[in-house]
Amino acid sequence: MDFTLSPEQTQIREMVAEFVDEEVVPVASEIDHEDEFPRELVDEMADLGLMGMPFPEEYGGAGLDYHSYALGLEEISRGSGGLGTVVAAHISLAGNMIYEFGSEDQKTEYLTPLAEGDDIGAFALSEAGAGSDVPAMETTATLEDNEYVVDGGKLWISNGSVADTVILFAKTDPEAGNKGISSFIVRPEEDDGFYVEGTEEKLGDKGCPTAELRFDDLRLPEERRLGDEGRGFVQALKTLNGGRITIAARGVGIARAAFEEARTYAGEREQFGQPIGEFQSIKHKLADMDTKIQAAKLLMHKAADNKIRGEDYIKEAAQAKLYASEVSREVANEGIQIHGGYGYTKDFPAERFYRDAKLNEIYEGTSEVLRNTIGDRLLG
Ligand SMILES: Cc1cc2nc3c(=O)[nH]c(=O)nc-3n(C[C@H](O)[C@H](O)[C@H](O)COP(=O)(O)OP(=O)(O)OC[C@H]3O[C@@H](n4cnc5c(N)ncnc54)[C@H](O)[C@@H]3O)c2cc1C
Repeated sequence: MDFTLSPEQTQIREMVAEFVDEEVVPVASEIDHEDEFPRELVDEMADLGLMGMPFPEEYGGAGLDYHSYALGLEEISRGSGGLGTVVAAHISLAGNMIYEFGSEDQKTEYLTPLAEGDDIGAFALSEAGAGSDVPAMETTATLEDNEYVVDGGKLWISNGSVADTVILFAKTDPEAGNKGISSFIVRPEEDDGFYVEGTEEKLGDKGCPTAELRFDDLRLPEERRLGDEGRGFVQALKTLNGGRITIAARGVGIARAAFEEARTYAGEREQFGQPIGEFQSIKHKLADMDTKIQAAKLLMHKAADNKIRGEDYIKEAAQAKLYASEVSREVANEGIQIHGGYGYTKDFPAERFYRDAKLNEIYEGTSEVLRNTIGDRLLG
């Protein structure tokens, strides 16, 4: 059993960490405060190849293995949870849908600009009445002559208002339940009938716009369908399984940031004539925080390792995402506690980590739904 990262993994992690320390950490509070899509940072990340980390070079990607990508995403999320979501939605969800299920032509035309970071991607699955219950979606795509006519709407779509390519799920056979869902490539700038209704005001995850989308007589040529009709539900589940590894990475990244901030503060803040870190209760908190982070990391590495080895990773990815998400929220909570009153104010980033961490327990499978997934795998 080897717990060390490969030279390539170490290299990518160090490269991204340096970028994050120099370019992201200094503006993270500003991103949080202004809640605007950080276009300049995204352009810089594109120049470094970070917007297409796991895709082959022939499609404009950096050709990294998925494990290296997860490590990169952990570092980005350590700097800004919102930026972590921007990249995860763009790569793990939108880009991966085209990479895994697209035709050669679709990969060349739509994946390449995503991987090069010229285009931004979004993944539009959830609806007002269909979050965990995906087959309850009501958006329809009806084939008329050689084009699909799409009507309906989507909610909570990360990058939805800034995306150049949106992967859209709709029912092509409303009577067929989850076997009647298909996926499509939508180009908001080119396709009439695509509307951004607005963006959500959120607790955290600032900088990543979470949009409500509406489709009104949106017409898509048949060539925009990804794979066969009726495969959309299976495609979405497969994509979300891989995505969960990177949401685990986001959790670990935010938890590490919260821990480091708390550790520094514990060494500097004095009460009763000594640094608070010398009180056993604070030392134990830090010990528990780091122990949980190390355990979450191992689950994340195990799931990523299974994926790149071609082994089954559904349970591992669900466990990694579940645990890292809960650890992230718990560690961020203790981080605030260690900061005392200052932790509850915006003078320190402790409260931002807490707000960013909470989202992990909700998107790409709530913690309750992940426990169902894990339980189902355990019980067959
Ligand atoms: C900031 C943000 C970004 C998002 N980004 C995207 C995106 O890019 N693309 C996208 O498609 N979606 C996105 N989502 C949507 C997200 O995936 C859903 O919010 C999530 O799947 C939960 O669905 P819901 O909100 O409808 O909650 P519900 O499904 O209504 O769940 C409500 C509660 O009931 C529980 N519950 C539901 N079903 C079960 C069950 N079977 N067993 C046990 N408990 C259950 C849930 O765990 C939860 O506690 C985003 C959401 C947010 C908040």
